Amino acid sequence: MNVYGKVVLPMREDICSIPINEAFGPKQGCPFCRIRDAAEERMALYITGAAMMQPDVRQETNRLGFCPRHFDQVLQKGSRLSVALILESLLAQVAEEAFPQGRGASKKARAAAAARQETCFICENVDRGMAHSVECVVALWQREEEFRQLYASQPYICLPHYAMALKAGQKLPRREAALFQEATARLSQKALGALQEDVTHFCRMYDYRNAGEDWGTSRDAIQRAVGWLTSRKPDMSQDAGGKNR
Ligand SMILES: [Zn+2]
Ligand SMILES: [Zn+2]
Repeated sequence: MNVYGKVVLPMREDICSIPINEAFGPKQGCPFCRIRDAAEERMALYITGAAMMQPDVRQETNRLGFCPRHFDQVLQKGSRLSVALILESLLAQVAEEAFPQGRGASKKARAAAAARQETCFICENVDRGMAHSVECVVALWQREEEFRQLYASQPYICLPHYAMALKAGQKLPRREAALFQEATARLSQKALGALQEDVTHFCRMYDYRNAGEDWGTSRDAIQRAVGWLTSRKPDMSQDAGGKNR
């Protein structure tokens, strides 16, 4: 029973809403980024753990390979042996496709080498999962007033996930689609406005005339702005060697 005395369907337990409520509950950062990050992490753990020796999973990792970001993640999650075993069969498949014996660099082999730059097992699975999750978010938003409030109370939505949410929201009936769009735009635009202020303030702090002024919330404005624009916070830990100054 909910506060209105109505019997609530067990929606919180369905496969759709559990990860969504987990992502929206903490109200930290972009909730869609949290769903994506959790899915990436699960996937990297899965392929280097439980699924490591499963032929069907291996067949897919051989076929698709990994992008640099997800190779990094696989290396973080897996033991060296598990990564080496994945690489062993992946390299064998690349050898077969891109360097077929006795046929030189045929058109097909060249295409196979080029295609290797465009596919990633984790990207493909996570993208598919994300598309489903965003549809679930829209469905939850449509049917639960409580979730609408939770949605509206998020800190922000990053630009890539703003675009993704709007696209999924177009499937709603017209009036609800407009409301969903409004709620989503509010979250994303509010963040943009704050970032613009912080980045401008950050730039101003480099003016000697402002020496000694308060940085306010602008110290990590670069990370946050890139994070909002791309859905990924940049690694700012490299030293300054070789930079333009
Ligand atoms: Zn995001
Ligand atoms: Zn990837």
